[in-house]
Amino acid sequence: MPVNKDAYQILKSELEAKNISLVVVSKTKTVPEIKELYDSGQRDFGENYAQELVKKYEVLPKDIRWHFIGHLQGNKVKLIISFVQLIQSVDSLKLLREINKQAEKTNRVVNCLLQIHIAQEETKFGFDGNSLMEVFEDGLQDLKHVRINGLMGMASLTDEMDKVRKEFQSLKELFKRVQTKDCKLKTLSMGMSADYKIAIEEGSNMVRIGSLVFGERKN
Ligand SMILES: *Cc1c(COP(=O)(O)O)cnc(C)c1O
Repeated sequence: MPVNKDAYQILKSELEAKNISLVVVSKTKTVPEIKELYDSGQRDFGENYAQELVKKYEVLPKDIRWHFIGHLQGNKVKLIISFVQLIQSVDSLKLLREINKQAEKTNRVVNCLLQIHIAQEETKFGFDGNSLMEVFEDGLQDLKHVRINGLMGMASLTDEMDKVRKEFQSLKELFKRVQTKDCKLKTLSMGMSADYKIAIEEGSNMVRIGSLVFGERKN
């Protein structure tokens, strides 16, 4: 399926008008497909698998800002640590410590979002409200090589938009709560192709969009 550049341009101007960051999710997409959107001006791309990200990083222009948005295994952190722009899917304190450790070795301070479990599906990784508060209360002191920029969450995959909206509202509430602990938190990454409009209504300032611009994925 060809890249839908019209959909991309429309989305881009819609988001720019509202000052919302767009991360184009390029998982499973080919290098030429990504390059097409790069040539249209897109610089922020998101990937779910470390090895796939590394392969694409190596051949695509170096001014792309790569976001990691999938479940990240501890032993894969070192593959991406030297170049990743933002790890959006930090789903445990253990992973955050590993990122800190690897970032220290490469002399970087790596930007991270903490992924919050807001959907009902059991398979979704992430912090809940209580474990999130614990991180801010006593988990961060020694971690000098990570910078927490905000939160990320995924709503349930459902047609029940009321439910999706409630989940986004709960994430926004948590975001406000953690901002009282750390006022530097700025990024609230929520919303994908099917639900980004609702996410924006509920306070998102970063959306992660794949199929809307790239066409449906086969998997
Ligand atoms: C795949 C994915 C997206 C994009 O999904 P689309 O429905 O294709 O827009 C966004 N966020 C995460 C974490 C994803 O895994």
